[in-house]
Amino acid sequence: MKIHEYQAKEMFSTYGIPVEQSIVCRSVEDAVKAYSRIDSQKVVVKAQVHTGGRGKAGGVKLAGDEIELRKHAAAILGMDIKGFKVDRILVGQAVNIAKEFYISYVIDRRSKSAILMLSKEGGMDIEQVAKDTPEKIHKFAIDPLVGVPDYLAREAAFKLFDDIKHVRNAAVIIQRLYKLFVDTDASLAEINPLVLTKEEEIIAIDAKMTFDDNALFRHPKIAALNEPTEEEKKELFAKSKGFSYVNLGGEIGCMVNGAGLAMATMDIIKLYGGNPANFLDIGGSSSPTKVIEAMRLLLNDKNVKVVLINIFGGITRCDDVAKGLLEAFRQIKTDIPVVIRLTGTNEKEGRAMLKDTDLHVAKTMSKATRIAVELAQQHQY
Ligand code: GDP
Ligand code: MN
Repeated sequence: MKIHEYQAKEMFSTYGIPVEQSIVCRSVEDAVKAYSRIDSQKVVVKAQVHTGGRGKAGGVKLAGDEIELRKHAAAILGMDIKGFKVDRILVGQAVNIAKEFYISYVIDRRSKSAILMLSKEGGMDIEQVAKDTPEKIHKFAIDPLVGVPDYLAREAAFKLFDDIKHVRNAAVIIQRLYKLFVDTDASLAEINPLVLTKEEEIIAIDAKMTFDDNALFRHPKIAALNEPTEEEKKELFAKSKGFSYVNLGGEIGCMVNGAGLAMATMDIIKLYGGNPANFLDIGGSSSPTKVIEAMRLLLNDKNVKVVLINIFGGITRCDDVAKGLLEAFRQIKTDIPVVIRLTGTNEKEGRAMLKDTDLHVAKTMSKATRIAVELAQQHQY
């Protein structure tokens, strides 16, 4: 789960990581009011969206007076940055940057631990630095039982600074950021850039935090900051109905009982040249309500041209499933073709029940998938 820069900066503040004074605003008038409360003539206006690269997209601007502030606030509010609409801006004290650095903690699969990453090449192009000159990014694996002791924090800080005064200040920030990272079960805590100002202060002027969704139950205050995207809302809705659903953007909607079979279904669709619209595991039972809700979920996706239902009747009996499907399709009327593969316990009875309907019934997975891919292609014009 992601949070906004202004929320991450509040956390930084609580942990004693220096940030500049800033106020979050939802309108130009708010921004003007904030400007009068900030004791700095020069301010920075920043889009608050769940994506990086705001600077490059025109979402970060400096203002030296109220007229400029109004102009930038009006331009940034409502802006679209990588598909995210800006509904909040952060108005903050502008700082005089002497140099920009990069610091982050992330979970690293290779070392199976948290790692600290630092670079002198902070600022907007860190991804490029990582690609072209990876030697400019320093990494330290953190032993969870030891954490970040003074010697390690100083060794890391020396990668950024030569002046011992700066090293000491940066070492403290490195330790505090680690504490925040661990305390909140974060998967990322990033400062880019951490700046050395012309007044020789070290300040975090950007803040990014991502949290492990599986640990959010331990952090209700953080969980409350969640702002799901439209896609995530659909997935959350599905979750509340007891489904496991992931949108994949293809044209063949899938409804499958069992996660393994659902994965296999997506593979076989690809094999025959189609594209799955989603992963959907409806679980074991075959109740009509479940099928109806799953169907609604699939038909809600405007990309779906065909629905492929793949059911293996183990404990669930195929005649029960067929009964559920018949009931479901009495209630849901759709022009979208539906292909059903039904096999397992009582399969003959099940398929017989579906014979005189509009549903395309198949016995094997490959047959059903081939029909679904063909139907999807017929609908492409
Ligand atoms: P991002 O592009 O989404 O990562 O947004 P950042 O908050 O990192 O801002 C992008 C760039 O804007 C920074 O790398 C700085 O160069 C610049 N910037 C941000 N705040 C200030 C500021 O207070 N003063 C100055 N001079 N530049 C700033
Ligand atoms: Mn940044």
